[in-house]
Amino acid sequence: SRIPRIVILGAGYGGIVTAIRLQKELNYNEADVTLVNKHDYHYITTHLHMPAAGTDNPENARVDISKLIDEFKIDFVKGTVLQIKPQERKVVLEESTLSYDYLVVGLGGEPETFGIPGLREYAMNIRSINSVRLIREHIEYQFAKFKREPSRTDYLTFIVGGAGFTGIEFVGELADRIPELCKEFDVDPGLVKIYNIEAAPSALPGFDPELVEYGMKVLADKGVTFKIATAIKECTPDGVVLATGEVIKSSTVVWTGGIRGNHMLEEAGFETMRGRIKVDEHLRAPGHDNIYIVGDCSIVMNPEGRPYPPTAQIATQQGEVCANNLVASIRNAPLKEFKFSNKGVVASLGKGEAIGIVGSRKIKGGSAALMKKLVDMRYLYTIGGIPLVLKKGRF
Ligand code: FAD
Ligand code: NAD
Repeated sequence: SRIPRIVILGAGYGGIVTAIRLQKELNYNEADVTLVNKHDYHYITTHLHMPAAGTDNPENARVDISKLIDEFKIDFVKGTVLQIKPQERKVVLEESTLSYDYLVVGLGGEPETFGIPGLREYAMNIRSINSVRLIREHIEYQFAKFKREPSRTDYLTFIVGGAGFTGIEFVGELADRIPELCKEFDVDPGLVKIYNIEAAPSALPGFDPELVEYGMKVLADKGVTFKIATAIKECTPDGVVLATGEVIKSSTVVWTGGIRGNHMLEEAGFETMRGRIKVDEHLRAPGHDNIYIVGDCSIVMNPEGRPYPPTAQIATQQGEVCANNLVASIRNAPLKEFKFSNKGVVASLGKGEAIGIVGSRKIKGGSAALMKKLVDMRYLYTIGGIPLVLKKGRF
């Protein structure tokens, strides 16, 4: 009989782990595996707050896919997916169409703007290598522009919308970067303002209150101004309008207000919640035994019936089980149930500072910052072994 065709869309955390695992598990000629990704590199999304602020080089947050997979075992296609056609078992790329027997969707999330006017047009996002290069260059350019028009202090006002983990990690880096930029451009640091604006009654809503307080203090001491319980209502070319009616003038708005699933899932006719598919216990889209969804495109419920937050941690665990279940399907063996094992959360607050919960232990300060580095290096080790840790690890 014909060799089954597996197509994996997206080489993010979920997709690349699925691919690496499949190439280990599958026997010769057991399946044809194709991995499709927009770029020929995988990006380490969990590092992106650093190159966005300019405290690290974007090169350090990406890895060539050819270094991660064995191209004798997996076909890599560099291409942009435009459409998924589940009825025809096809995916349409910009330059070709692929047929599949089994599909894995790991296309990641997209910024959730909640329909807030102007955010799509005027705010920037921390999503990819290209998007963080834009933020980094934009920030430097504001300093250069200020030198020509010293009355325009709005060039030195930086607004970060949303104090979830992405917003908090980014303002931590930005606060570290500002003194360097002030020195480089001969700008008085007293003129620079960083606002982190959060709609919920607290920063990091739902996270441990004691750690949130500690984190906010560390960031405030570095120069971050928080506006909590204050929603952004509109974004304009000149800044933001808050729900209170207050206007903050700024030429830099970075939106970290949340993410949704890839728009192609809705367009393909799947039932979605904020663009994400609630998968069955084996990680498949309901009603489609041959379609697996991993990472930010999927929703997995916790035992209390609430969705787990979309993280790299859950995406990599899903990748392992997804690959296992693809192999099992091909061999007519029973599928494995996916159970998330929470190893904890650690968020960086810039150089040498972090907060986190590991097991039931709260950690903060230098030890948490060290833990954050270990977690990041562990991932590099998982996908690329010691050589990748040495090459891309941030020591
Ligand atoms: P992604 O990693 O988003 O990758 C999607 C891939 O699909 C990309 O390679 C992209 O190029 C490709 N793609 C997208 N569209 C197309 C298309 N149309 N055609 C072809 N290819 C396409 N989580 C943690 O657990 N711990 C952390 O410390 C942590 N830190 C974070 C820090 C930051 C700054 C951010 C932004 C997120 C962080 N997260 C963290 C969350 C984590 O990064 C995401 O949950 C994770 O990246 C989701 O993985 P994924 O597999 O769904 O897809
Ligand atoms: P998020 O959804 O977790 O946070 C978005 C924040 O923006 C929320 O606090 C929300 O209340 C706020 N917001 C929404 N609308 C607003 C408005 N109009 N005005 C002001 N504030 C508004 O999104 P995220 O921070 O990008 O995180 C996405 C996922 O990635 C999460 O699951 C998170 O856990 C994960 N992540 C983890 C880490 C880490 O573990 N170190 C780091 C970054 C992201």
